[in-house]
This record gives sequence, C-alpha cells and structure tokens, in this order.
Amino acid sequence: MCAIVGVYGSQNASKTAYYALFAMQHRGQESSGISSSNGEKLLIYKKLGMVADIFGEASLSKLEGSSAIGHNRYSTAGSESVSDSQPLFAKYKLGEISVAHNGNLVNKHEVRNNLIDRGAIFQTDMDTENIIHLIAKSTENTLSSRIKDMLTKIEGAYSLVIQSRAKMFVIRDRFGIRPLSLGQLKDGGWIVASETCAFELVGAKFVRDVEPGEMITFEEGKEPYSEQLMEPDYHPCAFEYIYFSRPDSIIDGKNVYETRLRTGRKLAKEVPADVDLVLAVPDSGVAAAKGYADGLGVPFEMGIVRNHYVGRTFIEPTQEIRDLKVKLKLSPIKHLIQGKKIAIVDDSLVRGTTSKQIVRMLVDAGATEVHMRIAAPEIKYPCRYGIDTPTQAELISANMTPEEISSKIGSTSLGFLSVEGLKESLGSERTYSMVSFDGDYFAGGNVDSSGCGSN
Ligand code: 5GP
Ligand code: MG
Repeated sequence: MCAIVGVYGSQNASKTAYYALFAMQHRGQESSGISSSNGEKLLIYKKLGMVADIFGEASLSKLEGSSAIGHNRYSTAGSESVSDSQPLFAKYKLGEISVAHNGNLVNKHEVRNNLIDRGAIFQTDMDTENIIHLIAKSTENTLSSRIKDMLTKIEGAYSLVIQSRAKMFVIRDRFGIRPLSLGQLKDGGWIVASETCAFELVGAKFVRDVEPGEMITFEEGKEPYSEQLMEPDYHPCAFEYIYFSRPDSIIDGKNVYETRLRTGRKLAKEVPADVDLVLAVPDSGVAAAKGYADGLGVPFEMGIVRNHYVGRTFIEPTQEIRDLKVKLKLSPIKHLIQGKKIAIVDDSLVRGTTSKQIVRMLVDAGATEVHMRIAAPEIKYPCRYGIDTPTQAELISANMTPEEISSKIGSTSLGFLSVEGLKESLGSERTYSMVSFDGDYFAGGNVDSSGCGSN
C-alpha cells in the first residue's frame, strides 16, 4: 500500500505534491509527509493523520522550492508512530536525502541484521531505513552510483522516490509490482505518482508508466534521464485492480473501473445466481457488482449506504473494533431489499468479517436469499509485496472451503471468481502478480516470512 509522489522543476512543488497526496488518500491514511528542496537544504513536514488535516497554507509555504516528494502511509500491524512516517530524511557523507517508498522489501531482515552487525543503528521499524543506510554506507562517490549499489542489495517490491538538494531519482523494481507513473505539469515540471488520479487533480498530462527496473534521474536544466538498471520481468499487482487503486486511475495501461466491470461480468458467467437484485458492498465492490448485474441481466441498485466519515475497516487492529466498524460504515436501504432474492458483490474476501456482517444486515432487512459473490479468487496466501494481508492463519480461504465459509457467514451461496477468470479479466498481454491467490512468490519471500508492508 502507500502512495508516493515526486515533483521536480515546478513552482509550488510542495503544493502540487500535497494535492497529489490528497488524491491518493485512499492508499494510506495513517500518516503523510512532504519533503521539499529549496536548493540549499531539504525541508520536511510529516505527521500522523489525513492529508487535509496535516497540511495547511502555513506548513506548505515553508516547504519551499521547485522539488518535493511525498508519501501517504498505510496503517499496518507495525507501530503507528510519526517516526515511522515518510519521507525518511537523513544526512550522510554526500549531503542530505529524503526517501519515499511504496512496497515491501522481502530481504529486509537479512539486510538490517547485516547492517546492525556492522554497527548501524536504526530509528524506525521501516525497511525504508535500510535503503538510506545502504546508500550512506556505499563507497561510490556519487549519489546516483550509490543508489545503483543499494539496488543490488535489496529484493522485493519497491516504487521509490529519492530526493537530494539538486536532484530527484525515481525507481521501480524490476517486476513493476507497485504502480508508478510519470506525468508532466503545465509549467513544464515533472511529476511521478503511484496513481494517475493524482495527475487529474493537478492538471498534469500522463506521459508513461515508469518501467520495471528503470531509474529516471531529474536534474536541473536537463531532460529526465532514463536508465534500465535491472532486467525487467513485469508482474504488476492484480490487487491494485481488484481493490486498491481508485477506479479513475489507469494502472499500467488499464483503467481500474473497466477492469472491475470485467471481473463482475466474468463472475456472472462463472457463478450466476437466480436473484431479483444485485447489490454492491460499497465502495470497492461497486464496479464489479455493476458488471455482475449486467452479466446476469438483473437490476443493480445502490442498496447499501456507506458512511464516508468512517475510515476503512482494516485500520483498527483488533477484531472487536473491526466488527463494530462494519456497522458504523454500512447501512441497508430496507424497502429495496425486503422480500427479495439478493446477490451481493464484494471485491475480495480476506478474514470474512465484512461478509458475515453484510449477510446478517441483509437478512435483517428482509432479504429472502443472500448470494454472496466475490470478484476475486480465494485469498489463500499472504502477499509479501506491499499489500497488507494478514497471516495465513487469519485468511479464511486458506482454512475453509467456499461451502464452509458460506455456512459460517450465513449466506445462501458463496461464489468466487476463478484465477483463470481474473487473468482473463485483466488481459493476456501481461503476467500479473497473483501471489495472494496462487502462492507464487516470484519476487522472493515466502508464505511464512514475517510482516508485510512495513512502510
Ligand atoms: P474481510 O471482511 O473479509 O476481512 O475483508 C474484506 C473486505 O476488506 C472487502 O470489503 C475489501 O474491500 C476489503 N479489503 C480487502 N483488502 C483490503 C486491504 O488491503 N485493506 C483494506 N482496508 N481493506 C481491504
Ligand atoms: Mg470493501
């Protein structure tokens, strides 16, 4: 999870970064930060909370300069302290750097232990701090070559923006697991962001995706300079389309909303239901539910209202609060539902908490049948590449069959999209990261490696 942004060679760079972070708030609500360069030094402001609450005219006007990088952090099991928020700033032999990272390094423990054995001290629990240490300890004599040196030592998923006083470096791991796109601002400046929805808000023109294994260097008075540092093996994350990205974003050439519609239509072919009405679990299930209804030829209604002033349900760490939060967040429109056979579509099933509550809610509202449909395959494996899936013990589909889950959540039936169906919905021109569904840990790590998404 997490969102990153980098702005270079533009007036009011920090304000542009702020708007970009605002557009990408859905990728992380725990903390947010911006680091700017005024050419002489890096200035940084970060806090716990939401973008709109953290930054104001005063803080943004202090973040002066024509380059800025920023980060929204997603809440994980790790510590919720401001020291674990990003960008991460450090002074080292060649000056000052700030780093913003989206992803998860699978060899972070080895790297960290190795650094600690050599006397390094750490201030945070983030794998991003490894990156800073590796740059600082490199014996190369330019930042660019130190970054390249660092990249030979890290493994896993990373979209990175690194800022020095004069330059900005943008890197995407050789699998291209987490998204990262390049755009150009109206004043000629450059912007990179996790999602293209950020470009829409700041009026930037989409230029292209950052390529897997590519580093782009931004330097004053020069065009952005691209280097292919690592052999690409493109595997963008399927979960970006299923759940994580905003529907208006175009991720690696594919619009998220349309992809979700396709998963819904496919789901209707694979696991149809004889129902009067299709509903969605808002918001992330809406597009797939529309596709499912289209596929069945049954009406689609927005029969569940979402209270938008409650954060996403995963944010609270304890099960008790998660249970309560579903009710805080979602409420049925009873007269639509009463006496009807309902299909309800959600984007994914993780622990089964949401579905159980929703089924009960619909039954209480008078539904005569509740057919639960999930527009993703069964999640059987924890992602190690930056999606905060829980341990395998907590993943309901790793431990129960769809029939068992259906009786546990109290639904009339339960159906998932097949892995094949997801692949077809995404298109065959590319191989996607499906690790949560097929357990193929192609970028390292394994089902037992601890913790994920520590940034
Ligand atoms: P469950 O209730 O089964 O534990 O989780 C399923 C719900 O969580 C779905 O409604 C889905 O939209 C949402 N979800 C899936 N993955 C994530 C995630 O990584 N973060 C958050 N906040 N929600 C998720
Ligand atoms: Mg949801």
